[in-house]
Amino acid sequence: MDNKVKDYLQAFGVLEATQRFLSKPQRQFIGGAWVEASDGATSEVIEPSTEAVLTRIPMGTAADLDRAVQAARAQFDGGPWSQLKPLERERLLHRLADLIERNGDELAQIESIDMGKSVEQARAVDIQGTIDTFRYFAGWASKIHGRTVEPSLPGNYLAYTRKEPVGVVGVIVPWNFPLQTMAWKLGAALATGCTVVVKPAELTSLSALRFAELVEQAGIPAGVINIVTGRGSVVGTAMSSHPGIDKLSFTGSTPVGCSVGKASMDQMKRLTLELGGKSPVIVFADADIPAAAQAVANGVFFNSGQVCDAGTRAYIERSIYPQFLQALAEYTATLKIAPGLDPDCFISPMVSRKQQQSVLGYIALGKEEGAQLYYGGEPVAGPGFYVQPTIFANCRNDMRVVQEEIFGPVLVTQPFDSQEEALALANDSAFGLAAALYSNDLGRVHGLIPQLRAGTVYVNAHSTLDPSMPFGGYKQSGYGKDMGAEQLEFLLETKAVWITLP
Ligand code: NAP
Ligand code: MG
Repeated sequence: MDNKVKDYLQAFGVLEATQRFLSKPQRQFIGGAWVEASDGATSEVIEPSTEAVLTRIPMGTAADLDRAVQAARAQFDGGPWSQLKPLERERLLHRLADLIERNGDELAQIESIDMGKSVEQARAVDIQGTIDTFRYFAGWASKIHGRTVEPSLPGNYLAYTRKEPVGVVGVIVPWNFPLQTMAWKLGAALATGCTVVVKPAELTSLSALRFAELVEQAGIPAGVINIVTGRGSVVGTAMSSHPGIDKLSFTGSTPVGCSVGKASMDQMKRLTLELGGKSPVIVFADADIPAAAQAVANGVFFNSGQVCDAGTRAYIERSIYPQFLQALAEYTATLKIAPGLDPDCFISPMVSRKQQQSVLGYIALGKEEGAQLYYGGEPVAGPGFYVQPTIFANCRNDMRVVQEEIFGPVLVTQPFDSQEEALALANDSAFGLAAALYSNDLGRVHGLIPQLRAGTVYVNAHSTLDPSMPFGGYKQSGYGKDMGAEQLEFLLETKAVWITLP
């Protein structure tokens, strides 16, 4: 660990447990063993606010992935896991949730230090969301069942359906909510009786490795959950084409999701894809303006805009446009730009130099395209991959900054004159992850909800998430759902059984 990172951790008094975890050599978790990459390769992990080296992680290989798949297969194809009764799986999932809860502060610090995000937000959202997800799906383990059916076919039959786990699930996740996104995929998979191989994002693998220690401690049999760290182009592609994996559950960008999907389809792997977004926000003049301004700013600037369903395109009724922009700017000015461990941090550094440069590139593009820079728009002096929260005014839907996912703290806005125009502008996108409406006219709100082409519609709020509600996109934002009872269907096969009766 570089001295700059040591000083940073000391300045904010991180837990001894966190220091201990971050100071030890990191290993992959495969078949219950802690292993280096098969060729011994490792890669540096950079802390985003100091830009200094935090630690190193193994760069897993196709051989490591293959070992992990064999371990997961053995547990699924007749190993101790496959013999567990539903209530035993339920109990193990609750035990895991308890351990995550008990170590929640440490996990929040690891997530913050690795990814750069606010530690307070990590505790309240990422870690709490992870605990809630395991608890919610624990309860499902004992509530999965088929149906008995009365066929009309001449003859005498007992006809029924069985719900069976899909098998070994390959999980590929991005870096913005590392632990929570993994939990979204693991909770339902384990509840149904599947086994998993996870590839975390190369930039943020540490919370998954700490999680694996808790998996071991919870007494979940070796090989049920495997963590292979490394590059998407190596471990991710090997996973997409591995014949021992029955289903792939991917969260990430639309282009990578598309290639993972094509590779999976060659082997008819089952598939869930949670992809990018450019979610519209419509603000009507009848909304509570100060409350809406805060919610819109939080909805785009939370996690420094590195959120898949961030409300990044705001369409604002013309009569309130200048006033609303001013309210947005005034509230945004109160959001503290700081390192993630600062308890008052709201705007944390971007996850990496590459991400910061990409976001700054989009800000330059917006200016070139003729959008009016209304607020922010600059990096922040000193170390750290910061970008100021940024608001553009008078944008048009034909601008790339309005159509492409920026994945940073950038809001594009434009005024509208009629509800029909606002709806058309909102739906004019290749993505369809979420949409938000701000209005106090219930008739208007109910009329618009069915017309918005998005997997989630938020009204007078943004990014309210719960494991009981399904999450997933329309159009190029994805395929299938995570969370909610809906997710279970994507982890189960349905077997039709016919028994001829005498
Ligand atoms: P990404 O580049 O698509 O990477 C996502 C994951 O895929 C990473 O683990 C990555 O590994 C891996 N990967 C890269 N190339 C691969 C390949 N050829 N085959 C298999 N796996 C590969 O996305 P990101 O930049 O990390 O994350 C941001 C994106 O995720 C945004 O588009 C965002 O909207 C989306 N997202 C969607 C949701 C949702 O629920 N819809 C939630 C969060 C984020 P490496 O890290 O090693 O590159
Ligand atoms: Mg990192």
